[in-house]
Amino acid sequence: MPAKVSLKKNPKRNPLGKVFAGNIGALAVGLKYFFDPNRITLLYPHEYIKLNKGYRGFIVLIKEKCISCSSCARICPAAAMRMLSIKVYNEKLKKYMIKKYPVINYNRCIFCGLCVDVCPTEALYHVPYHDIVYENMNDMILSLEDFQKEPENIEFKEGIPVKYYFDESRGLVKTPYMEELEKQGEKEEKNQKVEGEGEKGAG
Ligand code: SF4
Ligand code: SF4
Repeated sequence: MPAKVSLKKNPKRNPLGKVFAGNIGALAVGLKYFFDPNRITLLYPHEYIKLNKGYRGFIVLIKEKCISCSSCARICPAAAMRMLSIKVYNEKLKKYMIKKYPVINYNRCIFCGLCVDVCPTEALYHVPYHDIVYENMNDMILSLEDFQKEPENIEFKEGIPVKYYFDESRGLVKTPYMEELEKQGEKEEKNQKVEGEGEKGAG
C-alpha cells in the first residue's frame, strides 16, 4: 500500500521568535564550552594530536620494490591512485621498455590504506603525518618523483601534544600527552644546560 502524504500545512509558528530562541540557545552552548575546563576542542596549532604508531598518514612509494601489478590502483575506492607509464632502460635486454608505476592524487585520497595493505611487495607505506599544506590543488597530484619522497616532518616548536581518550562518565576527554611533555622538558633542560655551559666557557 502506498504511503499517505498529508497536505496539511504546518501550524503557524512565530519564525522570528524561533530564530531568536535558536540563537540564544547556540550562544549559551558556546559560552558554556568556552568556560568549561573540560572542553575537547583542539586548539591547533597551540595543541596538536600525538599520532599513534601505524597512523594512516601520507603514503610513500619505494619504486625499486614495485612490480607494476596495479593492485593499488585497482583497489583504490576513491580513484586516487593511477598507474603512470614511463620508459625505462632494461639493462638485461639492453633496450627501453614501458613500465608502470603508481602515482597519487591527494585531492581524492581518503587515507583508507587499502593500497598499502594490498601491495604484495610492501612497496607502499604510510608516514605518520597528516597536516601538510599545498599551495594549490595541482600540487596535490604527486609526480612519480615526489611520490617517492617522505614529506618533511616539521616539528612543532611551541605546540602541546595532546591525546583523546574515552571516559565512561565524561565521554571524550582531551589530555596533554605526558610522555611527550616530559621529553620536551628534558630537551629544554638539556638545552639550558648546554647554553649555561657555553656562557660559562665564553666568560
Ligand atoms: S589510501 Fe585509500 S584512497 Fe588513498 S590512494 Fe590508497 S586506496 Fe586510494
Ligand atoms: S600494489 Fe605495490 S607492487 Fe603493485 S603496482 Fe602498486 S605499488 Fe607497485
